[in-house]
Amino acid sequence: MTEEVLLETNNLTKKYKNSTALNNINLKLHRGKVYGFIGKNGAGKTTFIRMITGLAFPTSGNLSLFGNSNKKDIQNSRRNIGALVEGPSLYPFMSAKENLKAQQIALGIDDDKNIEELLELVGLSDVGDKKSHNFSLGMKQRLGIAMSLVGDPDFLIWDEPINGLDPEGIKDLRVLIEKLNKENGKTLLISSHILGELENTATDFIIIDSGNIIEEISKDELLNKRKDYLYIETSDNKSALDILKNKYPDVSIKMDKDYISLANFYDVDFLSTLLSQNQINIREMRREKESLEEYVFTKIGARK
Ligand code: ATP
Repeated sequence: MTEEVLLETNNLTKKYKNSTALNNINLKLHRGKVYGFIGKNGAGKTTFIRMITGLAFPTSGNLSLFGNSNKKDIQNSRRNIGALVEGPSLYPFMSAKENLKAQQIALGIDDDKNIEELLELVGLSDVGDKKSHNFSLGMKQRLGIAMSLVGDPDFLIWDEPINGLDPEGIKDLRVLIEKLNKENGKTLLISSHILGELENTATDFIIIDSGNIIEEISKDELLNKRKDYLYIETSDNKSALDILKNKYPDVSIKMDKDYISLANFYDVDFLSTLLSQNQINIREMRREKESLEEYVFTKIGARK
């Protein structure tokens, strides 16, 4: 079965006077996935999201949404997108409930029962009549997420939803993403530079840097591609480093603080023998996968 493409971009480009914020972006996003959209400050994440949600227009290139590519149909399709872009846009002198009601009215929906459900879903059932300008950043973020869920859209696009959330809020968001995706079949595009958090929730990753897509990769592919590091601490790291570098010129071997790391190295028995022949003892040895963060920085760094 082929997966439905919800969003497709063809050479999508956005130029400002002196800079190119997005450079020929070609992406296909499929229904049912959770996309982690990863890049440093200024990489182009918000610009991309603004193009998709109709808040800004491309300089060149085009896009299709839910299979629609003409302007009017794209605009209609956007009703099936729930967005949180550049922070939550709230009515400051309204309560959480009133904000959600206002959003329902704007979308032509009348369903008070759903408002209670949404507040429950984002952990804001107990805020009562407090006006949203008195909310903490995390509470505003939670309400912004609830606002994006009004009308039950299929495709949720959240720009930096983790901003302002405390550890409990981050955990709640992870549970919510899983529920929306697994139980309700929603597709999500979530931008962040908190890479570790998306590692737990995303099914796919899109890495962007300086307006260019560096890689689109599924979680499984990423697990296979990330380097496996062997860390060793020895009685004489400096000599051990020289011996290992000399013996294995093709292996990436580095010394970091008290450890020597060897990338994708599995010949442990021989390594132990080699070092002991040189009167060097191994004090500690462990194996770890490269984190998503390290993988991304290596990828981005490799372009520089
Ligand atoms: P962040 O994580 O900091 O939000 P980002 O990945 O969302 O960063 P964008 O906000 O999309 O990045 O910015 C991409 C590039 O486009 C940056 O170099 C930015 O300075 C530039 N840019 C964005 N909006 C404008 C604008 N209105 N006028 C001129 N340049 C802009």
